[in-house]
Amino acid sequence: MAERMLKFVGTPQAMPDKRPASERRRDFDEIYQAYATEKAAEQAARCSQCGVPFCQVHCPLHNNIPDWLKLTAEGRLDEAYELSSATNNFPEICGRICPQDRLCEGNCVIEKGFEAVTIGSVEKYITDTAWQRGWVKPIVPRRERPESIGIVGAGPAGLAAAEQLRRKGYQVAIYDRYDRVGGLLIYGIPNFKLEKEIVQRREKLLRDSKVTFHLNCEVGRDVTMDELRARHAAVLIATGVYKARDIQAPGVGLPGIAPALDYLTASNRHGLGDKVAGFESGALDAKGKNVVVIGGGDTAMDCVRTAVRQGAKSVKCLYRRDRTNMPGSQREVKHAEEEGVEFVWLSAPQAFLGKEKVSHVRSVRIHLGMPDASGRQTPQEIPNSHVNIEADLVLKALGFDPEDMQAMFATPDLGVTGWGTLKIDWRSMMTNLDGVFAAGDIVRGASLVVWAVRDGRDAAERIHGYLTTKAQAAHKIAAE
Ligand code: FAD
Ligand code: SF4
Ligand code: SF4
Repeated sequence: MAERMLKFVGTPQAMPDKRPASERRRDFDEIYQAYATEKAAEQAARCSQCGVPFCQVHCPLHNNIPDWLKLTAEGRLDEAYELSSATNNFPEICGRICPQDRLCEGNCVIEKGFEAVTIGSVEKYITDTAWQRGWVKPIVPRRERPESIGIVGAGPAGLAAAEQLRRKGYQVAIYDRYDRVGGLLIYGIPNFKLEKEIVQRREKLLRDSKVTFHLNCEVGRDVTMDELRARHAAVLIATGVYKARDIQAPGVGLPGIAPALDYLTASNRHGLGDKVAGFESGALDAKGKNVVVIGGGDTAMDCVRTAVRQGAKSVKCLYRRDRTNMPGSQREVKHAEEEGVEFVWLSAPQAFLGKEKVSHVRSVRIHLGMPDASGRQTPQEIPNSHVNIEADLVLKALGFDPEDMQAMFATPDLGVTGWGTLKIDWRSMMTNLDGVFAAGDIVRGASLVVWAVRDGRDAAERIHGYLTTKAQAAHKIAAE
């Protein structure tokens, strides 16, 4: 092993080639090129094969990273794929969009001094190769089971659960209010981070595996939760969180100020060839405009980089804390800066100015005060420090809260937490309604794709346990 691995001293870290910013600004294609085979093997060989691999500990899926790195270094890609897909339903998606700097790579032991192994890029390379070589096959369960499971939500949590349940032979039906499969993977996250074909080939794989989809079907409106419970042996709620947080400031209702997800959805739909009213009218198109994005998370980063690609005149990101305290990935900030985005740190909107539509954001400087109960420094306004920033389009990216789930499903008994997320028993992943489980953002609050996959897998396991126990109990009663 030592011969091939442990190359981190002599081989520097190398990400796949990144396209120049001047080229990236003009299209929505992914920014990284694929690794060449030798490069992937060379980078995988930098791993020091730790006895206690912190990369694996800090991956929410506990992927067997050192082993698939070693197999990649040895050119045994089919085995690397087997291993990597055993713990992750969408390795090529996580490899592209996980914030690796905060998860696996941020905890790689060689990070201190030699820079981390490029785990995400190798993970993506392994599964992209598997797709190219036809190793990714539809599921044919060893035996079919008669029980059917209804899943509400075709985002990563619902899709991961569907795949796991189908592997066990259950009949799986997914309901989604959108017209396409993927949840935020298709309508939230832009193409330059995750090309839509990557999501669509996963959808096809599930369809070929005989998972059925009911699209344009909103549970609570087109079908009731009670109907679903009667139709299916178990139901999984994986509906995500979509209520955009708003800003309380004078002028916030002016035309030209829009929620971030409306903007990103319009851009993604446009890219997929749909006619989108907000885009056609220009209201949600940044072309030729001075754009100000408010927020410092992943959604804000996606907005600024989309605006650049749409041909905005200028793009500014206003965030009330500083660079080190922002929730978004540092890697994304770097990409955005390279592409020409200006970050206005320690600034918050005080008012939106304009007559018929927004013309300026009045922003105030912020000083970070004493840490609060959560340990984060509290932002405090500096008196008389305001400036007016020119803006024709303002995008509000302040995060998301759950919708009113009891009202959505007309189930006043459904247990929710103080934050409005669904309350589950974490051991069983079941809500307080018998046979109704929940997973993903609707349980955690706005989180990450990799956590949604983890929850979807766990929920599938618990649903299987629940149905098996129920069947055994029924059997016992029948025998008595
Ligand atoms: P979702 O992906 O939100 O899917 C929920 C699905 O449920 C949707 O398709 C919705 O239409 C459907 N639904 C809701 N209500 C109903 C109903 N009543 N009936 C039927 N269907 C319903 N995470 C990362 O790891 N990396 C990133 O780079 C990243 N970037 C992001 C960028 C943006 C702009 C946003 C908003 C989020 C980003 N995230 C990122 C977070 C990530 O997308 C989410 O954590 C993840 O998608 C949650 O998965 P989910 O399956 O729980 O929900
Ligand atoms: Fe890293 Fe995400 Fe892959 Fe885990 S799933 S190894 S955190 S990129
Ligand atoms: Fe390899 Fe880094 Fe993981 Fe150690 S922490 S096993 S060096 S990838």
